Amino acid sequence: MAELRWNPLLRTWMIVAPHRADRPHLARDVCPFCPGSGKVPDDYEIYAYPNDFPSLSLTPPEPDFPGDELVPVKPAFGKCEVTLYSPNHNVTLPELPIEHIEKLVAHWRERFEELGSIEGIKYVFIFENRGEAVGVTMIHPHGQIYAYPFIPLKIKTELASCLDYQKKNDRCLLCDLLEKETSEGSRMVYQNAHFAAFIPSFAEYPYQVDILSKRHLQSLSHMSKEEMRGLAEALKCITGAYDSLFDVLFPYMMCMHQMPTDGENYDSYHFHIEFYPPMRERGLLKFNASSESGAWATINPTCPEEKAAELREKVREIAERDHEEGQDASRA
Ligand SMILES: [Zn+2]
Ligand SMILES: [Zn+2]
Ligand SMILES: [Zn+2]
Repeated sequence: MAELRWNPLLRTWMIVAPHRADRPHLARDVCPFCPGSGKVPDDYEIYAYPNDFPSLSLTPPEPDFPGDELVPVKPAFGKCEVTLYSPNHNVTLPELPIEHIEKLVAHWRERFEELGSIEGIKYVFIFENRGEAVGVTMIHPHGQIYAYPFIPLKIKTELASCLDYQKKNDRCLLCDLLEKETSEGSRMVYQNAHFAAFIPSFAEYPYQVDILSKRHLQSLSHMSKEEMRGLAEALKCITGAYDSLFDVLFPYMMCMHQMPTDGENYDSYHFHIEFYPPMRERGLLKFNASSESGAWATINPTCPEEKAAELREKVREIAERDHEEGQDASRA
């Protein structure tokens, strides 16, 4: 049983997927994502693994629950897949060589285009849940992709805001936001030629980082080879800075916001990635509670400018280390 049910109060679809509750706790000594498990090729670099317990499927069963006019119901059409970042069980994203992360970005682009071209798929959401704090017990480096038959509410809201802003100002909301962050500087964390990363002044999480393309573009498909390399560098550096903050595998939710794939025009939207890490300080998690969940009124218990300074320092250390390693390599 799995189906989509309409929430008439929020005017969005939600997914009912109760079979997921039966998901067995995966034994830690047999990792299905490791070569030799029989579940993945013996030789792969990056692999699209079909989700064993998908909430959405291209051949969904008929809904069990009879919908009506107030709460319509639809089959849970769509696709869920797991993205294996590397065959190496213990490697972490920032430890992967830059060339490998470039291949990951190219893989995401290929999956975005392939899944987005399926008739009826309106939104392809690329994301990563990382760490036990966000419910992930598998340490093998991986992310996920959900292909939805609808545009999720948060994306819809952002699209509407960007379109509105464009109409009123003849400019892109996110380009302007990037310009503001660049000129103010206090929340800037990282920059390269093609991408910038900052903690937005309205961040919901202490260490929330948004990565924006410097060029106004809407998806991975619009990126040049240099931009894809720039994105790989930004991801390596930001996740590396996260891991060096408290010397733990830093938990986060990484959410890639791209244009929908329903064939409509989304020129006013702008590609970005939002990182939501639930940690507020060493050993202390920030939980979303009543105000956040019940009213969508978020409370950030920290000052974004101070947290940005902490991350900036880590980014500087990484750049220095890489520079020294580069010098060692050129001497050798
Ligand atoms: Zn593994
Ligand atoms: Zn823009
Ligand atoms: Zn967004």
